[in-house]
Amino acid sequence: MHQKTLVELSAGMLQGSFSSEELTRACLARISQYDGELNSFVTVVEAQALAAAKAADARIKAGNAGPLTGIPFAHKDIFCTRGVKTSCGSMMLDNFISPYDATVTEKLLEAGAVMVGKTNMDEFAMGSSNETSFYGAVKNPWDAARVPGGSSGGSAAAVAARLVPAGTGTDTGGSIRQPAALCGITGLKPTYGRVSRYGMIAFASSLDQGGTFTRTAADAAVMLGAMAGFDRRDSTSVDRPVDDYRRDLDVPLQGLKIGLPKEYFGEGLDAGVAAVIEAALTEYRKLGATIIDITLPHTHLSVPAYYVVAPAECSSNLSRFDGVRFGYRARDPKDLEDLYTRSRGEGFGDEVKRRILIGTYALSAGYYDAYYLQAQKVRRLIRDDFLQAFEQVDVIMGPTTPSVAFKLGEKADDPVSMYLSDIYTIAVNLAGLPAMSIPAGFSADLPVGLHITGNHFAEAKLLNVAHRFQQATDWHARSPQGFA
Ligand code: GLN
Repeated sequence: MHQKTLVELSAGMLQGSFSSEELTRACLARISQYDGELNSFVTVVEAQALAAAKAADARIKAGNAGPLTGIPFAHKDIFCTRGVKTSCGSMMLDNFISPYDATVTEKLLEAGAVMVGKTNMDEFAMGSSNETSFYGAVKNPWDAARVPGGSSGGSAAAVAARLVPAGTGTDTGGSIRQPAALCGITGLKPTYGRVSRYGMIAFASSLDQGGTFTRTAADAAVMLGAMAGFDRRDSTSVDRPVDDYRRDLDVPLQGLKIGLPKEYFGEGLDAGVAAVIEAALTEYRKLGATIIDITLPHTHLSVPAYYVVAPAECSSNLSRFDGVRFGYRARDPKDLEDLYTRSRGEGFGDEVKRRILIGTYALSAGYYDAYYLQAQKVRRLIRDDFLQAFEQVDVIMGPTTPSVAFKLGEKADDPVSMYLSDIYTIAVNLAGLPAMSIPAGFSADLPVGLHITGNHFAEAKLLNVAHRFQQATDWHARSPQGFA
């Protein structure tokens, strides 16, 4: 059962081949069998999941099931879940039981999906390896000595190891696409504003966007269909109808124009990864697409601009964690100042502190114009590069990451090299565009992701382009040995 996709599982339940309760029990059993090793879950909600599965079974029997009804999923621990610990991977929120559901949580539960637990992540979503989590690193199911990527590494590892058919993630600079690539699954980051951020703990508000982890693009279409939509509780949510993401999945790719930015194939790209991307492009040519060379001239400025904008916004967002309103509080404070200082000093980990310091500096009087304002101007140039490219091409392709999964600890003491592992994903967040990573092959027995970027709100196109590739290839169907 665990090798079936979300779409297959839904069909199986509708046909009465198995119930959601049986499916949910199977997922819970795999979690207890394998998660001791992977560490992909922070919390497992067995009783709640079984109750939701039974309700889903009743709904299926009554004939009012949707495509997600009865489907178990793993929820990144950044989304608030009423009555369930919502830690954001931090000691700061280790004792936080959310009093309300995030909009995404609410929508998935209303669709009848079954939340089995909350997944491990880099602390406050800051990281590319899952090593900054208060709950310890997550292991990559393809090689337990390697990182699963981050920050949504728990959801990615859980889906890759076939513990659950689907998971949620958030992507501020690559946190869905990079772990999807390193774990060999399909990750989708929608257009900024497509999925509500209400109840999704904020890292960098102008970049954060919730999205999906699945094995296939067809499954992602179902998940996104349930998660997307306008939300008046999120002022940056876009009031625009949600497309039927499944409708165009099978449209032939004859005449598709794929842009290939020359900046993505230069120095720093691993040769094994480059070869996989070349082969994927050959496959797309066979499917009828034309490859067009393009240029995104400000690509080299995306990592520096991001590491001003994201820390600046995080320093502001994380000021609410003061030991008074939420989460961790230092013991026996001498006075108010001591309460603030020690609660934050003890409650946050090193990477979070590093970002708060950089961000506070970049926003401080006298430096605001030189750093934050300048970064916002660069951001506009990056966005304009993409918009210009989309006058010529339908989608843009390249590698998701410059190399395959690295070893645990390999970059832990070298923040700059860690930051550079997001070089191909970050510009997309700065431009607010939708993008996917899909499995495209292997290098040194480790998965490689193909990155596909679309114009604003072109999720249906992206899913179509990914789906046709997955019908012609079987990279997405490979599962890691030991979890088969
Ligand atoms: N790795 C990037 C960072 O550390 C992106 C994280 C994310 O997308 N949440 O900021």
